[in-house]
Amino acid sequence: MLNSNNMRILIIDDNPDIHQDFLKILATDSSQKEQLKTQEQLIFGDLPKKVPFPAFTIDTASQGQEGVQCVAKSIIEGNPYALAFVDIRMPPGWDGIETIKHIWELDNNIQIVICTAYSDYSWEETVEELGQRENLLILKKPFDNVAVRQLSMALTKKWKTSRETFQKTKSLVDSHTVLEERIQYETNHDSLTKLPNKKFLMDYIREETLNSTQNKSKFAILYLNIDKFKLINDSFSHSVGDELLKSIADKLKDNIDKNIMITRLGGDEFVFVVSNFKSIESLAEVTKVLLNKFNSPINVNSHDFIVSPSIGVSIFPDNGGNIDELLHSANLALNQAKKLGGGRVQFYTNELNQESLKRLEMETDLHHAMENDEFFLCYQPQYNLENNKLVAVEALIRWRHPTKGEILPFEFIPLVEEIGLMCALSEKVLTLACIQNKSWQDKGLVPIRIAVNLTAEEFKQPNFVDTIKNILNETKLAAEFLEIELTEKIIVNSIESINKISKLKELGISIAVDDFGTGYSSLNYLSKIPFDRLKIDQSFIQNIGINLGDEAIIKAIITLAKELNLIVLAEGIETQQQLDFLKLRECDEVQGYYFSKPLETNQLEDLLISSSQKVI
Ligand code: C2E
Ligand code: MG
Ligand code: MG
Repeated sequence: MLNSNNMRILIIDDNPDIHQDFLKILATDSSQKEQLKTQEQLIFGDLPKKVPFPAFTIDTASQGQEGVQCVAKSIIEGNPYALAFVDIRMPPGWDGIETIKHIWELDNNIQIVICTAYSDYSWEETVEELGQRENLLILKKPFDNVAVRQLSMALTKKWKTSRETFQKTKSLVDSHTVLEERIQYETNHDSLTKLPNKKFLMDYIREETLNSTQNKSKFAILYLNIDKFKLINDSFSHSVGDELLKSIADKLKDNIDKNIMITRLGGDEFVFVVSNFKSIESLAEVTKVLLNKFNSPINVNSHDFIVSPSIGVSIFPDNGGNIDELLHSANLALNQAKKLGGGRVQFYTNELNQESLKRLEMETDLHHAMENDEFFLCYQPQYNLENNKLVAVEALIRWRHPTKGEILPFEFIPLVEEIGLMCALSEKVLTLACIQNKSWQDKGLVPIRIAVNLTAEEFKQPNFVDTIKNILNETKLAAEFLEIELTEKIIVNSIESINKISKLKELGISIAVDDFGTGYSSLNYLSKIPFDRLKIDQSFIQNIGINLGDEAIIKAIITLAKELNLIVLAEGIETQQQLDFLKLRECDEVQGYYFSKPLETNQLEDLLISSSQKVI
């Protein structure tokens, strides 16, 4: 019976007696073993009690061809022979050399023992025929039984060891290959969406650049970003944001053309590389298809999200000759698409680049300006309409640029905010304003309030109140002479806002709502937050005598302010007509070019000196 655990030995010999001899020598059943033991005892004397001898499965063949068939069958069965004893001469068929050649064609690893009765082939001739092999040995007839057993044990063991080593090495190589493939996959793919990642994109674009240069063809980069995605992340959890990104990735890659490679750069940024597009129109069609994928809401955690993407497009080689330039151009276009309201596609143009260069230059200049104290304040007077006295000034920042001259705030404040310098700048302004006001008082001039504009960024700081308190302490200006101007947009009706403003009030600082009427639609917050002053936005004032609607709004604001016990100040007065209108409606205070443009320190000082006598 064939035991698949036993190693297999094949005897190929034309003499049936030899088959029997082998069977006896290599026998594993007890009777044969005993027989053998007796024979061995005759030859070698007493043997140790236990001779460990493996059980073999032995097959026999009388001719070379038959033997080769056995080998072939054993391979098909998946249970190959470990060893074959092959007779050198087996008339009328193949001799041993021929047989071995055929066996090795089938199985290179089988161990072979050539059995020779007399030397019709010398060892040298055999080697010449079969090659120098480590799995070939010669055994001379008549057999020495022990030699046969030793050869069988040693060679089958050798075969087994080399087979196991081969299998172990193979499995090591296989698992190494699997590991290598996994590492390769992970370095090139994004773990969240399983899309190719930034590294992959870089390699891909590099390759595309080479191909397109060679073929004189074009390819496009589509930089896609989800509008206001941060809002979703902030309003829901980050895990909801992640789920949404996965769904977006699925949507984007669904049904995608084979010429388009989709990758995720990170966050909510996806980059598509469109190869071999036919025309700008066909490229526009691709972007339209991408935008249309967002026509229906995306459901995540049983929430329907309506999201829209913006897309910036750059084309190789027109808008950039390498990865950095192409991504930069596409990103500029993307920013422009967002600026225009989002949910749209913008192709790169040269103007966009010039604008961005200008911006970059200004950014560097702003950093220098902070270090070199290039900012200074102008002061615009505010008058009380009842007694016509100068009661306050609004501090307005200016930038004295070393080459461009004086720059107004609307040109640089948004950028200062964007690059994160606003808090530092606000503190500079507050300190300068307080120092200046204190210095006027120290000179014995009429004490006035100084109003300072602050942005949302500064107001949002957790130490906002303390910062102002410290500045007042350091500059020794009494709190009653400082006013903080906050626009409606900054003041949201939150407990935090109310607390902060109440604390400032407790310190004695007054608070004005700047640009009133242009921002927040709900008036609810007015009664809840303890303001001092409402500044009617100049856009209404400038329409006095022109737009009855705006006149009505001014009247309503004045009435509302009086009802809420707030002082009302009109800003941007330029004409007598505007002043008359406001006087008639009993507006409390005024500010505008009609009285004075923002003045430099010494001009304001002169004005203060004469202000006690001056009647406007
Ligand atoms: P704002 O706080 O509403 O300041 C009033 C602006 O109107 C000032 O412009 C002032 O020069 C201008 N103005 C005053 N009277 C008239 C007038 O009769 N006609 C016209 N056409 N304009 C008038 P400015 O100095 O260019 O400031 C613009 C804005 O920049 C300010 O608006 C304020 O929001 C912001 N800003 C100015 N200085 C600072 C500052 O130190 N910090 C912060 N955060 N913002 C500032
Ligand atoms: Mg203001
Ligand atoms: Mg204003």
